[in-house]
Amino acid sequence: MCGIWAFLGPGANNYVVKLAPWLIHRGQEGVSYVCRVDKSLIKLSNASAISSTLCLGHARYSTSGPYGIELQPIVLNNDFALVFNGTISNYMELVIRLKRDFGINIKTNYDALALAYYMRELLSKWGIDDGINELFRTLRGGYSIIAVWRDLLIVIRDPWGFRPLVIGSNGSGIAIASESAALETLGMAWREVEPGKALVLHGSGKEYWVEGPRVRRAYCALEYIYFLRPDSYFNGISVYEVRRRLGMALARKEAIRDIDLVAPIPETARIAAEAYASSIGKSVHEVVIKNRYVGRGFIKPPSERSMDMYSVVRDAVRGMSIALVDDSIIRGDTLRKVLPKLRASGARAVHVRVSSPPIRYPCFMGMDFPTRRELIAHGKSIDDVRKLLGADSLVYLTVNELTSSIGMTELCTACFTGDYPFNIDIENAEKLFMSDRVWESQE
Ligand code: SF4
Repeated sequence: MCGIWAFLGPGANNYVVKLAPWLIHRGQEGVSYVCRVDKSLIKLSNASAISSTLCLGHARYSTSGPYGIELQPIVLNNDFALVFNGTISNYMELVIRLKRDFGINIKTNYDALALAYYMRELLSKWGIDDGINELFRTLRGGYSIIAVWRDLLIVIRDPWGFRPLVIGSNGSGIAIASESAALETLGMAWREVEPGKALVLHGSGKEYWVEGPRVRRAYCALEYIYFLRPDSYFNGISVYEVRRRLGMALARKEAIRDIDLVAPIPETARIAAEAYASSIGKSVHEVVIKNRYVGRGFIKPPSERSMDMYSVVRDAVRGMSIALVDDSIIRGDTLRKVLPKLRASGARAVHVRVSSPPIRYPCFMGMDFPTRRELIAHGKSIDDVRKLLGADSLVYLTVNELTSSIGMTELCTACFTGDYPFNIDIENAEKLFMSDRVWESQE
């Protein structure tokens, strides 16, 4: 997952810098920009120092290629630049097509690099409409793309609609961003880019749309549960309201009477925890404290995931029976650290409540859990997971409870069910994305 954004208009360099803090929760491995300056596309770590009317920004959270370094925006031949959010699950097919159809030989295990080369070649050889249509036909995966090609700005959202993408304007220019909340901070009116559509913007302000194939929509359910800011909207639905409904659904399942207090795992479980607590007539106590200065744990590279980000308020938990609410359990890293601390501080009981179903299958559409073996719930019963966590009880939502809380059925729930929106060979995909995650440069 990544945050992507762009601005077309006077002061673009300042606008992209202002947008960065509102999208950095989608990628903490680095923020970088590309701006057009005197007909050149220049990659920058700080866009404030230059002047430009077209800039792209990128906050990286890697799901392919190496961890911890900033590879986007990708700039090719000084006439093409790309930022991308998602995962191209068939990127090796692009590498093969590049060699077969265009005579370009790249050796990479970084999906965005294969995408950038492939997209540029399609546009150069096929033209804008046919090139974009062929891109839609070839790509499998979740992708929201902002690209510059010659004097055009091109904005693309995949046909399934896995990842969010919005476009807005404020009278002085046009902005594009992964999340609506970012554009609202600039006081912009915004609308969502529809799945399977590409917007082509000329520097002159002229715009037109290219329509791709119509397939079954598959909006990422985990975006609602965990990833998006709560003040964002996704497919016209308020993320805040979804999280409240998820918490209320959890409350309807509550069978334990002996609960003294409700504690959220900060930050993303708070809204569900508040709704759950008020529905069962208890109050929320912030007894698990997150170090706010170390970022989001789940999207950290593996080498940093062992970092201890949570402490507990000893005096507030001693002797208490606690309902501990989390939004999701992927690897179980957070709860495996927090539960022993609650026990050591004298908690009488810890009942874990999760505002989503068990995650048992990998994601190849934009979240960084591409193997079954890393998932705490894969191949396990709920009671097995409870034992691994050391909880007194464990309750998840069902997939039906999730979809009715979101309020639509056009969702991807593959990580809960194993039912992927397109054909995918899990064994091969796991090998592809975990081969070594080391980027090899262009030959
Ligand atoms: S598999 Fe899960 S995380 Fe991946 S796109 Fe589908 S719902 Fe989202």
